Amino acid sequence: MPSERSAPGAPKTVNDAHCHFLSSRFYEALGREKYGPDAGIPGERVARELGWDPAGTAEALAERWIAELDRHRVSRAGLIASVPGDEESVAAAVARYPTRFVGFFALNATAPDARERARRAFADMGLRCVCLFSAMHGYRLDDERVAALFEIAAAHGGAVFAHCGYLSIEARAKLGLRSTYDVRFGDPLALAATAASFPTVPVIVPHFGSGFFREALMAAESCANIHFDTSSSNNWIKFVPGLTLTDVFQRALAVAGPDRLIFGTDSSFFPRGWRKVIHGAQQAILDELGVEPKTAEKMFSGNFERLFGA
Ligand SMILES: [Zn+2]
Repeated sequence: MPSERSAPGAPKTVNDAHCHFLSSRFYEALGREKYGPDAGIPGERVARELGWDPAGTAEALAERWIAELDRHRVSRAGLIASVPGDEESVAAAVARYPTRFVGFFALNATAPDARERARRAFADMGLRCVCLFSAMHGYRLDDERVAALFEIAAAHGGAVFAHCGYLSIEARAKLGLRSTYDVRFGDPLALAATAASFPTVPVIVPHFGSGFFREALMAAESCANIHFDTSSSNNWIKFVPGLTLTDVFQRALAVAGPDRLIFGTDSSFFPRGWRKVIHGAQQAILDELGVEPKTAEKMFSGNFERLFGA
């Protein structure tokens, strides 16, 4: 098979820090929300309603992801269990491919069992990063319940992913589910107030703060453990007149520096699979900015390895 050509400065290894592992349980949870808790709608039907491929078992989905990563020569991926309570699915994928997958899990910090779940995920299930969606679950990122999760992450060498800024979830929108997100809860400066007390815990803010870019930059300036993931099409830039994604990379490199940008795609469903187009667009931006190959290597793989080395 002829090898694909890549730009001269393009790094050989790519790790993707932001992929959603949309398991059957994820679809079932959406089905319960749409059709009622007792409707017993199978995940498969919900996936088909979305026009997406059903997940099958967690093991089958893990195989599909591996084939997809291999096809695109992606070395490792952070897989996010994208609905609270779905830690087992990603744990099964990680157990099958521990050198390829890093387990992330969504958790509602206000749930009564949040601490116990976090402890179990880090200590017993081999997961590495707790994911907070405070705008969805309605709490502040400087809440003591968030600090408690940081403490647990610190005790287990784990990381914290905190979605800040504008939030939209494609599956929910397509299913017509009501999504009442209070974006004010996604304040990077509130996150910084907590993160500052846990300097050993790597913190990942996806999509450069998803609209709270200025605040995310200030948070990163004041907290050396705050990182940005570069994932998705970053169409939040529409909220800032004149801002381009090239500007965003340039400014993020200037403030957070090359050690704190982590490449991600925000890939999720099949058959779309891995979002190669995101990788191409970001490589082109780095080329346009004339960043050194060493910087590109850090962003596309090295920083992920530093945070999530075996
Ligand atoms: Zn995402």
